[in-house]
Amino acid sequence: MLKKIEQVLHAAGVPTGPIDQYLAALYARIAQINDGSVATYIPELAKVDPGLFGIAIATVDGKVYTAGDSEHEFTIQSISKAFIYGHVLDQYGREAVLKHVGVEPTGEAFNSIVLDEVANRPFNPMVNSGAMAAAEIIKGETTEERIANMLDVLSRYAGRSLSVDEDVFRSEQATGHRNRAIAYMMLNSGMIHSSPESILDIYFRQCAVKVTCRDLALMAASLANDGINPKTGATALPRDYVHDVLTVMNSCGMYNFAGQWSYEVGMPAKSGVGGGIIAVIPGQVGIGVFSPPLDRHGHSVRGVRVCREISETFGLHVFRNHTYTGTVVRRELYGNVVRSKRLRTAEERKVLDEQGAKICLIEVQGGLFFGSAERLLRRIDELAAEAEYLILDLRRVHEVDQAARRLIMELIDWLAERKRRLLFTHVTTEGPLAPLHAMLKERFGNLSEVLFEHRDTALEWCEKQLITNASIGRDLTKFSLGALRVFNGLTSDELKIIETAVRPLVFEKGQTIVKEGDEARLFFVIARGTATVSLRIRKDDEERVVRVASLGPGLSFGEMALLDGGKRSADVIADERVVCYGFSVEHLREIGRQHPHVFTVILGNMMRDFSERLRHANDEIRALEG
Ligand code: GLU
Repeated sequence: MLKKIEQVLHAAGVPTGPIDQYLAALYARIAQINDGSVATYIPELAKVDPGLFGIAIATVDGKVYTAGDSEHEFTIQSISKAFIYGHVLDQYGREAVLKHVGVEPTGEAFNSIVLDEVANRPFNPMVNSGAMAAAEIIKGETTEERIANMLDVLSRYAGRSLSVDEDVFRSEQATGHRNRAIAYMMLNSGMIHSSPESILDIYFRQCAVKVTCRDLALMAASLANDGINPKTGATALPRDYVHDVLTVMNSCGMYNFAGQWSYEVGMPAKSGVGGGIIAVIPGQVGIGVFSPPLDRHGHSVRGVRVCREISETFGLHVFRNHTYTGTVVRRELYGNVVRSKRLRTAEERKVLDEQGAKICLIEVQGGLFFGSAERLLRRIDELAAEAEYLILDLRRVHEVDQAARRLIMELIDWLAERKRRLLFTHVTTEGPLAPLHAMLKERFGNLSEVLFEHRDTALEWCEKQLITNASIGRDLTKFSLGALRVFNGLTSDELKIIETAVRPLVFEKGQTIVKEGDEARLFFVIARGTATVSLRIRKDDEERVVRVASLGPGLSFGEMALLDGGKRSADVIADERVVCYGFSVEHLREIGRQHPHVFTVILGNMMRDFSERLRHANDEIRALEG
């Protein structure tokens, strides 16, 4: 409904958001400019209404903002050259195409007859001669097939099926003798090999393809979006060639105005004598402008002004630095303060208090490319002086490019030599970090000790290493009751009384030991194996399971039942075969009635345990919030 209203308002020219509002104001301002004159050398172009004016901006996720005559069709003219150049690069590869056409700016007009006689090729694909050399090698058995291929390329960029304006085509075919002369000169010097007429047949049609300003914005946005049309998701040009096209657009796209354009506007761009201009801000947006009156260089007067203003207002010059690499490390946390959800015995906690600083968790944020990855590496190198286990939490990283992946591999080797472990979280087989996953897989084969789903599991693994190295991971199958914290301080006679309340229990992997909501009759001490405590959270008819803790040998659970005799507050499920001792709550209470001292000691131990956990939780909150 809201969308409908927006559409109606928009159709009526009423701005419906801040960008629309900006565009509407820009449009109104630039519409005051009446300089320039429409191209007349192609007679059909002279018929256009010079007052037509449209602006469109398309983002790399497919949102299109428009102002003015953005749906009016006109001929694409030279703007097509950029896309056809990309197409032949894709078809033949860089090296082969360079034999046909160079990449040097001419400093001359679009229809200049100057050719690179030393290399025997036109200077670049943005001037007519170079575009004809590119048009010559568009593949196809017949002219029809080649025309169809050319239309197909342009249509993929626009995201809709484009067609040729036959009147404009015929008009240029009948009068385009200068282009004819250029083609014959190229034939004469062996720069092209087929008949000039057959090449012009394609070239003039390619120039006469009808587009709207909105199409142009989407075509430019496809280049901004690594060659992928942001609306349809179709690949218009493989990523590897996008920067080639943009480079040539940047140096040659605006002909003998290219240097000044680059200086003032700083966006790879291409103009056409039909009055269109595209400009590309890589990774961000594509701009399309249409206004027929041209300046002396053959560029739309209003089009140039629109691009210049947008560039200035939003600071979009490509050489303006948008990436600050300093914020790549969001936070560093240490294992003596921040712990996994694994509940630990007092001895284990002591090890982690003393040695936990050997675990360093680094929260990384943003994109990892050469500059930011280098920063990160330098920091990790510093941290590795003390820390032995370095966990890279990549949850907030949206990209790890080729350079960063390369650097990470170097880092792994460097750290391995220094007996340091680097672990990663949130690196999945799908999504933007998939290439990093593939690289790690190739390097390690088995990723179970390298990649972890969450930081919690990574922390738990590192804690286990510290605890095992401190050699306190004892076999507790035959533990004495007195060694359990909860029974600390009881005399041997008192412990004997307790023993009468014990029941040995075995649970297989996946079995529920305790179920939320059940009557609490037993409290447990784990002798062997680990179990997970989880909460079932229900919201809008959906149930989610949240892991709140994990328990191992020597740890007790369910003791809250001793205090309040209530119901189970969470599920406890065996991660593997679990051997534990169950103490009947009823029985212990009974003992308590007859031997009050026993009960007081047990409760005292429990309170001490709770308060320790609480203190630790406070430290952790301080570290996380600080
Ligand atoms: N079809 C036009 C020509 O070859 C294109 C020139 C342009 O748009 O700059 O003259």
